[in-house]
Amino acid sequence: MRDEWALRKGRSSYVLWTDEMIRRMQAYPERTAAEIAAELRVTPSAVRHARQRYGRFSTGTDGLCIVCDARPVFDTSAQAKKWRLCKGCYLAERKRRLEEEAESNRIRQAAHRRQKLDGDV
Ligand SMILES: [Zn+2]
Repeated sequence: MRDEWALRKGRSSYVLWTDEMIRRMQAYPERTAAEIAAELRVTPSAVRHARQRYGRFSTGTDGLCIVCDARPVFDTSAQAKKWRLCKGCYLAERKRRLEEEAESNRIRQAAHRRQKLDGDV
């Protein structure tokens, strides 16, 4: 469905993406479509279509961590692989999420207590 849409709607900017182009596009998920377009000599809208089509990030397992961009993805953990993080960044991210969760629970409980108190008055 999406491919059809891209073909019909983006005909003027439709380019055939080679594996090499896709790889180079996905190597820089943080870059804008315009920056990648300039490097690959295609239009920014072609890059946007390609990102919709092939994904902004590489799905390969040999990629580098998207946070530190230095160490390989910790691919023995399904979750780390999904987040595309190396072991260190994955552990830091998990810790951060747990802390955020604890903090939001604390806030929710505090709000709940306050509500109860207001109700008592
Ligand atoms: Zn990392």
